[in-house]
Amino acid sequence: MSDMAEPRTWRSWLRGLQREIPQISPKLAAKRQRQDAILIDVREPHEWRKGSPVGALRISRGQLESRLDKLITDPDVEILLLCENGVRSLFAADSLKKIGYERVYPVWGGYRFWKECGLASETGCLSPVETERYSDQIRLPPIGQAGQLRLKNARVLCVGMGGLGSPAAIYLAAAGVGHLILIDADRVDRSNLQRQIIHAETTLGLEKVDSARQFLLRLNPDIQVTSIHDPLDDTNAEALIDDCDVVLDGCDNYETRYLVSDCCRKLARPHVYGAVQEMWGQVSVFWPSQQQGGCYRCLYPESLQGDAANCNTLGVLGVVPGVIGTLQATETLKILLGLGQPLTNRLLQYDAMTGAFRVSRIQADPECVCSSRK
Ligand SMILES: [Zn+2]
Repeated sequence: MSDMAEPRTWRSWLRGLQREIPQISPKLAAKRQRQDAILIDVREPHEWRKGSPVGALRISRGQLESRLDKLITDPDVEILLLCENGVRSLFAADSLKKIGYERVYPVWGGYRFWKECGLASETGCLSPVETERYSDQIRLPPIGQAGQLRLKNARVLCVGMGGLGSPAAIYLAAAGVGHLILIDADRVDRSNLQRQIIHAETTLGLEKVDSARQFLLRLNPDIQVTSIHDPLDDTNAEALIDDCDVVLDGCDNYETRYLVSDCCRKLARPHVYGAVQEMWGQVSVFWPSQQQGGCYRCLYPESLQGDAANCNTLGVLGVVPGVIGTLQATETLKILLGLGQPLTNRLLQYDAMTGAFRVSRIQADPECVCSSRK
């Protein structure tokens, strides 16, 4: 029976490719890689983090054709493609051959078989400088090289570069969170400096996001910092929150806080909340989709005077936002690393006058917009 008689399905297409495109074993691929072939791991970043052949180029399937065009100038170079079990690499090879690459070979059995053959893998893409910088953190068993890579690949949106955002962003940058997106519409004023420790006399008058960016890149030049000198509002909130892993809420007004809360709920992003006033502060994590807990609106169903953080009118002891912002950074790192129990369903309150921390439960409000009954 000829191939023509076989109905066209994904499987028949795959079988056709298996017949047409010669594949090579992982052992032969490793040998040719030592000669002059280029081995490309076409899986996704979350798969690379668990391990990838030593020395492989890592280009995910969706970017392969466009990236190769820039990377490989010699069309005669031998290209070896590896995926998880040998299917994606076949389709990738088919595509590259159609473009005109002649010597393209998928690796049979993919990375799964590569490991079974005992061939060399590496779990990280940390540079020697990064490995040195984060060595004390990598040594912690629950973090290790894999956890540090998770931080490197993480994106955190920091809303506000004031008293809370300053210490939080500094610790996130120091810990190696790979991409910080800062948004704030204000400029640095001398009256900020008593608590907003990311800014300085030398940056008075600058956009706060620019002043903060300068500080963070001096501290850690290996990370990316994007600064947005705008308010967070209806025009940008969803896109920015959709594009990050965690939102660190260091804002100073209810309107923005409700906006952050609503977008985080809609897009299932963890909302790390902090607020300060005079001599006390509080912190919590709202993550309704994951933890069955409530949202910021459950805690403050409508704008209540006295919640937080208008330091300009109420005043605040400068170190209090330092304590709360640092706790927010801690919760953010825990979420990114999957460590411990985040402060979901709980409100941690700090009273500087007595030196006491108190944790109370937050009940999800069944009447709130976040309730599954709604
Ligand atoms: Zn709610």
